[in-house]
Amino acid sequence: MSRIAYVNGRYVPHAQARVHIDDRGYQFGDGIYEVCAVRGGHMIDNVPHLDRLERSLREMAMAMPMSRAALECVMRETIRRNLVRDGIVYLQMTRGVAPRDHAFPKHPKTQIVVTARNAKPHTTAMIEDGVKAIVQPDIRWGRCDIKTISLLPNCIAKQAARVAGAYEAILVDENGVVTEGSSSNAWIVTPEGKLVTRPPSNDIQNGITRLEIIKIAKELGLAFEERAFTLEEMRRAREAFVTSASSFAMPVTQLDEAPIANGKPGTLALRLRAAYVAHMDRQAGAA
Ligand code: PMP
Repeated sequence: MSRIAYVNGRYVPHAQARVHIDDRGYQFGDGIYEVCAVRGGHMIDNVPHLDRLERSLREMAMAMPMSRAALECVMRETIRRNLVRDGIVYLQMTRGVAPRDHAFPKHPKTQIVVTARNAKPHTTAMIEDGVKAIVQPDIRWGRCDIKTISLLPNCIAKQAARVAGAYEAILVDENGVVTEGSSSNAWIVTPEGKLVTRPPSNDIQNGITRLEIIKIAKELGLAFEERAFTLEEMRRAREAFVTSASSFAMPVTQLDEAPIANGKPGTLALRLRAAYVAHMDRQAGAA
């Protein structure tokens, strides 16, 4: 089956999907994106994802190119045309095509691309053994809350993880405080059993999975605190895990060369993962 991409109003074969060389996304990374999980052919948590998209657009002073309802239709249609059951739908908007100049064009026309693909399921080993993460310095800018396509520091950190045979890079600021993963939010369970993740700020992406896991933790009555934690705390944690639309909740059992706790996934991480998967399945079933 050949893949189909949506590009500015047209569904085109993926291999022939093109943007102009003067697109500001290509020139400057001047654009934003969203990634939604797809489960059983259905978009998961599309409402908060599109809320965040609209927020990113506002923060970047970019215009929404179509109504939200129309955008949801395009995303659904892209999922359908690509026969996606379990995977992701990717949406990108850039400030459009204009002669190269750092300042914004006078009359920008937001460009939009939507793609969708199936994803390999997480392996049993990933869930039963957890994954390795490495520590990398957080060298990003002051607006990490905006979901911009300018992801070079994240790419560098993820590449370092790949080279080290690790799943994720945990980003740490100059004070030894964990910000987040290179493409995920970071969580720990303290030795006292309290679930901790960082509050939203300009320093992190307010992950939609993160928000849902917080909801679930509250429903389950788990001890939970939204606060920053240090790398040292993470190394000494009872459990650690990362969350994102593609990782769900993924137990992290090794940080650099040392195990976290006994090197096995923690009970809370697995419980939250199972509850999150059930949350997705409910949406897929109800949609
Ligand atoms: N932080 C960063 C830097 C990310 O790239 C992502 C995933 N896009 C997340 C956190 C998790 O966000 P979400 O749960 O919405 O996928």
